[in-house]
Amino acid sequence: MKNVYLFNESYGLNKMILGGKGANLVEMQRIGLPIPNGLIATTTACKNYFKNENILTDEMLKEISEGIKNLEIQTGKTFAGENPLLVSVRSGAPVSMPGMMDTILNLGLNDATVENLIKKIGNEKFAYEIYIRFIEMFSEIVKEVEKEKFHSLKNEMKDRPYKEVIECYKNLYKIETGEDFPNDPEKQVVMAIESIFRSWNNERAKIYRQIHGISEEMGTGVVVQEMVFGNFNELSGTGVAFTRNPSTGENTIFGEYLLEAQGEDIVAGIRTPEPLMSMKDQLPNIYDEFIRIANVLEKHYGDMQDIEFTIEDGKLFILQTRNGKRSPHASVKIAIDMVNEGLISKEDAILMVDTELLPQIFNGTFEESDIAGKKLLGKGLPGSAGVAVGKVVLSSEKIKEGESVILVRVETSPEDIKGMSLAKGIVTVKGGATSHGAVVARGMGKCCITGCEEIKIDKSEEFFTINDEVVKEGDIISINGYNGEIYKDAIKLKSGEINGDLKEFLEWCKEFKTLEVRMNADTPKDVTVGRNFGAEGVGLCRTEHMFFEDEKIWNVREMIIASTKEERDLALTKLLELQKIDFKSMLLKMGGLPMNIRLLDPPFHEFLPKTEKDVEKLAILLNRCPKEISDRIKELKEENPMLGHRGCRLAITFPEIYEMQARAIIESAIESKQEGIECEIEIMIPFIGGISEFKYIKERILETIQTVFDRYDDSIEYKLGTMMELPRACLIANEIAEESAFFSFGTNDLTQTTYGISRDDSIKFIDHYKAKNIMKRDPFQSIDTRGVGKLIVLAKELGKSVKPNIKIGVCGEHGGDPKSIEYFNELGFNYISCSPFRVPTAIVASAQSAILKKRGI
Ligand code: PEP
Ligand code: MG
Repeated sequence: MKNVYLFNESYGLNKMILGGKGANLVEMQRIGLPIPNGLIATTTACKNYFKNENILTDEMLKEISEGIKNLEIQTGKTFAGENPLLVSVRSGAPVSMPGMMDTILNLGLNDATVENLIKKIGNEKFAYEIYIRFIEMFSEIVKEVEKEKFHSLKNEMKDRPYKEVIECYKNLYKIETGEDFPNDPEKQVVMAIESIFRSWNNERAKIYRQIHGISEEMGTGVVVQEMVFGNFNELSGTGVAFTRNPSTGENTIFGEYLLEAQGEDIVAGIRTPEPLMSMKDQLPNIYDEFIRIANVLEKHYGDMQDIEFTIEDGKLFILQTRNGKRSPHASVKIAIDMVNEGLISKEDAILMVDTELLPQIFNGTFEESDIAGKKLLGKGLPGSAGVAVGKVVLSSEKIKEGESVILVRVETSPEDIKGMSLAKGIVTVKGGATSHGAVVARGMGKCCITGCEEIKIDKSEEFFTINDEVVKEGDIISINGYNGEIYKDAIKLKSGEINGDLKEFLEWCKEFKTLEVRMNADTPKDVTVGRNFGAEGVGLCRTEHMFFEDEKIWNVREMIIASTKEERDLALTKLLELQKIDFKSMLLKMGGLPMNIRLLDPPFHEFLPKTEKDVEKLAILLNRCPKEISDRIKELKEENPMLGHRGCRLAITFPEIYEMQARAIIESAIESKQEGIECEIEIMIPFIGGISEFKYIKERILETIQTVFDRYDDSIEYKLGTMMELPRACLIANEIAEESAFFSFGTNDLTQTTYGISRDDSIKFIDHYKAKNIMKRDPFQSIDTRGVGKLIVLAKELGKSVKPNIKIGVCGEHGGDPKSIEYFNELGFNYISCSPFRVPTAIVASAQSAILKKRGI
């Protein structure tokens, strides 16, 4: 396989080889669109370059040289010739990484070709300016000369003749690099290709890949393409357009352009562009031609396109097309509209929606009634949909993990990527809807406002003013990415709801998905939210969470502090009534769907009073002295509570706790049945590690249930099963399956105990593992298929060998993670369960994985 291909030699090669940008250019040329000619150094060349210790092999150099000769023939121009060939050199990875890697324009210029260019086009100002710009870009990107050095030189030399400026620029290059500025155009191209290969490994590209889970191994392609100039004359310009509105999804072309400018002016947000509609008046023929091409491209790719174009002296060229990034709202609307317009199938529409972004929809909007009293500080452009509230921070470095902040910047650069990923929302002073800030924010599913020129950031970088109001770092603001409004103080956020397009889209997803999607619900309110979102049952009700509400905690404390069985029974009787009320309310709201209730899990100490005041309150309630209470608290303290006296271990020591819970569940289920609602009840025992442990508890629960049946002279159907959350349980899953009606994988604890990494402390070091590429993803977020997955597969197989129809589900956090859902679907599980707000995302992810499985992908 070659390292370098001309566009017209690469028809049919895929984007893994050509890179996304290159592959799309080649395809556009193939279907006859106006594309400047070019060649591509492939991702294979990039990998070969790294393999060869960052040196281009002789073979590669030869191929580049031959490629250039052929490009000269195709364009009728020559490097360093009278009709000089100028090229751009751009990176293009197989997966889009907007603004993350580098671009150099105007290669091919030197002291001689600039004169030839002047002769040819008769525009001295233009030719010298692009030459100056080239030296600056080349120095920055290829040799990492600081931007600032050129900027101050530019200011010093404001009124000097061009030739002098050029000399000084080249001098600066020599001072900074110790080398002469390369005159030979071919050498310029070779150096640029090498630097773009190297840029694959720059810090910002690495962070971007980490955040978006992009493989390090792919490498980037490099596109070398004949230059066309948007800054050539008044009949020239450059622009970026989306075939549909990327914020709202509306089916109208949405874009921006600038006359007499080069592409980077728009993307970098340096000048604020004009809406594309104005082009209709300024350059009507070009406008019509562009709309025609945009339609061709959208139909051809079957998706909304993000198109970069340049007009040179009244002629339109397309420089790039790719599937456009869009807000979550827009992605659903576009998917639905394109099916209704007959452009794509329902299955394709489902695959088109990025599940990583969906949660933003459910994060909702501002509480309408709370906006009224708030001061509107100003307004920018809606860069990325969503709302956010947080403290103002004016530089990315100041943002700490876990803080709720709004990052406010003049403009964002790729160096801000980490800060943007940590912030709740982003505001920029400059830039349009296609600037770096907006594109990256949209990709991250973050609320973002751009082009808010009313903001003036003070030099001290400690405050900004906006329409005479001073806003200091640390002050709270609320921002609305749907309309660009910025408010003083916090506005209440309203949780999302499903209506219109989303409802229809979720219905389509339900047609295709095979996994049952349940919710983790601990309260009647959770049940209402989850059912609205489409949950098909409760996969996990953590009963201990019910006790954290209101005054119930005091009854639990009473039970824990009890030193005799009598005292404990008394406390349990009170708890029984409280649990029954909650269970019954949830069962009635479930309306007959399956409901899995897990018996008490956490270590006792979590319930105990933490402050002196609470110790005193408990002492008064129990008529004991505070010292006695604090001594008991000390006694209960564990060195390693996550592996201590928790889960079913509590029931081995105090069987009466689970007996009380089993009674509360069955009594409320019988009473609900008598009121007309009969749910499928599943009772789940947590933290089982051995079969005798399970049998001991099962026996007592069965006895309790029989007593309830006798007392009510009635019965209900129920299943008794286990969580699979310890490696030992997985290893003896066949024994457990003999006794258990179902397996529900508790992947939080299973990950913790398989890795031996505490789920509470991992946050302190997992990021370092990711940064050093030791771990690709946090295993607590996305299931580790290689290690934890092996135990899951083993447990599933052992379980099924005994009970082929044993019901298998997942109720750990991974049940709401799209990547993990795909894995569980692949394994043929019956259901996944996740928090109510993640249910719609899980429905979409389940449908996507079912479609992919069906297509054998
Ligand atoms: C689990 O461990 O995955 C689980 C669902 O239980 P919890 O998070 O309550 O320990
Ligand atoms: Mg657990």
